[in-house]
Amino acid sequence: MLTAVVGINWGDEGKGRMVDLLSEGYDIICRYQGGNNAGHTVINDKGKFILNLLPSGILRDSAVNVMGAGMVIDLEHLMGELEGLAAQGVEITPENLKISDKAFICMPYHRAQDILEEERLGDKKYGSTRRGIAPVYGDKYMKKGLRMGDLLHRDTIEEKLREIVEWKNITLKGYDSVAEISDVMAWIEQYSDKLAPYITNVTEFLLTSANDGKKIMFEAQLGALRDIDFGIYPYTTSSQTLAAYAPIGAGIPGKKLDYVMGVIKAYSSCVGEGPFTAELFGEEAEALRAAGREYGAATGRPRRVGGFDIPASRYGIQMQGANELALTKLDVLSYFNEIPVCAAYEVDGKRVCDFPSGDELLKAKPVYEYLPGFKADISKCRSMEELPPAALDYIRYIEKVVDCPIKYVSVGAERNDYLVMNL
Ligand code: GDP
Ligand code: MG
Repeated sequence: MLTAVVGINWGDEGKGRMVDLLSEGYDIICRYQGGNNAGHTVINDKGKFILNLLPSGILRDSAVNVMGAGMVIDLEHLMGELEGLAAQGVEITPENLKISDKAFICMPYHRAQDILEEERLGDKKYGSTRRGIAPVYGDKYMKKGLRMGDLLHRDTIEEKLREIVEWKNITLKGYDSVAEISDVMAWIEQYSDKLAPYITNVTEFLLTSANDGKKIMFEAQLGALRDIDFGIYPYTTSSQTLAAYAPIGAGIPGKKLDYVMGVIKAYSSCVGEGPFTAELFGEEAEALRAAGREYGAATGRPRRVGGFDIPASRYGIQMQGANELALTKLDVLSYFNEIPVCAAYEVDGKRVCDFPSGDELLKAKPVYEYLPGFKADISKCRSMEELPPAALDYIRYIEKVVDCPIKYVSVGAERNDYLVMNL
């Protein structure tokens, strides 16, 4: 059984908490793309965790967690995350964490380059997390990357690095920050012995497990609208956030997914720059941001917020091929007298329901409609029968307009704050 849990929107839909919840009974949880630009919040009986690199199944004692080939890994950040979890009493061993030898290493010079580029862009910045993600993926495709497996070959790593750093410094000409090979080597050596036991050919492990009928869950970072190819380019991330990529990014490209769970938020939020048609401003935005505590888990940045965006969500669901949805943070809407929903866009004076491609999107204006608010605390509801009728109507409305069944509704941040819908 191969399942992907993916984001339908701009990210921060609550994938981490859904993976933590749904991973019960799964043998393997696997991140398949992205790096420590992810911020997945998990709150359960072990405590509160914000995971950047580690899969959100790391808190399940019985599961093996895998960091797949499609990931980019900042060694320093990973060590910090492992130490942080150890301090919170979570034991991580090479038996329950396996890191792909094919994942790329995100270097200090990638971080530096990311910051330099955002600063050069000034007002036109992309809203990068400044953690080196675009530069490291760029280098991957330029074939100038070092991979986790290289850490296991001490005899050849320095030579490889020398070639790469020489090239990198050519591209950094004009900036006063160049990478010194000795500094980079010293940085690598600080972490390589500690991380080496976790690095392995995860493909063998995943293939054998899949063939033995084990249950494997793939965890995405960000959402469909941030996919490098099908998202709002260039305000995307630099990797593939779509479910179809999960078996590839994990390390078993020949296997097919059995089930895709799309995580979708009851309203919209967006970290970073770029078109965000449903965006609310002023007091309306402040109220929603405060109610939803919309501040980035990885960066602390205030998130842009808006009503549920139907054209964008329909598109996200199509791109993800979601079989079912988990609607998160419904409790946040309880303060509204009327719930704002971006029902369509207006482009050149015409109402459109399909998500516009390319620069068409820049012209889109939101068409807002309002649904009755439920004005009640639903955070203790544990079955759909306990929901106020207006909350149930909102769920059914979303289900109908996006044309995908909602299986789970979450009403709070903790593991058990959810209810299951009768489909
Ligand atoms: P991810 O990146 O998709 O894993 O999502 P984040 O962790 O970045 O953002 C989701 C935020 O909403 C976190 O702070 C969660 O603790 C919180 N959260 C998740 N589900 C719910 C919910 O149903 N209700 C409320 N109020 N908060 C939630
Ligand atoms: Mg997040």
